[in-house]
Amino acid sequence: MKALKERILRDGKCFDGGILKVDNFINHQMDPKLMKSMAVEFVRRFARTDINKVLTVEASGIAPAIMVGYLLELPVVFAKKKVPSTMENMLVTKVFSFTKNRTYDVTVSKDYLCEGDKVLFIDDFLANGNAAKGIIDLCNQAGAELVGMGFLIEKGFQAGGKELRDMGIRVESLAIIDSLDNCTITLRD
Ligand code: 5GP
Repeated sequence: MKALKERILRDGKCFDGGILKVDNFINHQMDPKLMKSMAVEFVRRFARTDINKVLTVEASGIAPAIMVGYLLELPVVFAKKKVPSTMENMLVTKVFSFTKNRTYDVTVSKDYLCEGDKVLFIDDFLANGNAAKGIIDLCNQAGAELVGMGFLIEKGFQAGGKELRDMGIRVESLAIIDSLDNCTITLRD
């Protein structure tokens, strides 16, 4: 998606360890106009997909997910990164965080991720796919069908995208980064 790629090149910042910071328009300050355009693009790409729910993980997935849910007029559920004190009716999976270098629990209520749901998962970044695999596990536990996954930015030099596509999952990424070597952002055409 052209507008996103241009913005990444203009405002994205590389950090050691292959981290891209997009704090100026996605992860800290947010650009609602761009966020809306990205949601419109997801809606276009998943137009022929039967979806009844949008799912994301707190916190940075919530903004794009709510935009997509708003456009599709569908409920948006965010999985939580802390186990709530009232654990009743919760599904839990373990996810290793690439950026924080630790494992944490991701939970969602059985009331909001249910058998028969047709789920579109939306998140900001796809790197090694650990968060995505946690979501697949939660959908399996719930008996929900994962009909697609949409990411604002995929880091194509990490394994997640290939692994998810090899699993037969429909993955749509609005910008794919081929390399962050030498702190230079190289985007896929
Ligand atoms: P994965 O689970 O695919 O390995 O990593 C995805 C999650 O890690 C995303 O939800 C995002 O929060 C975080 N992440 C991974 N790589 C980056 C990065 O380069 N920049 C930022 N800002 N977040 C990242």
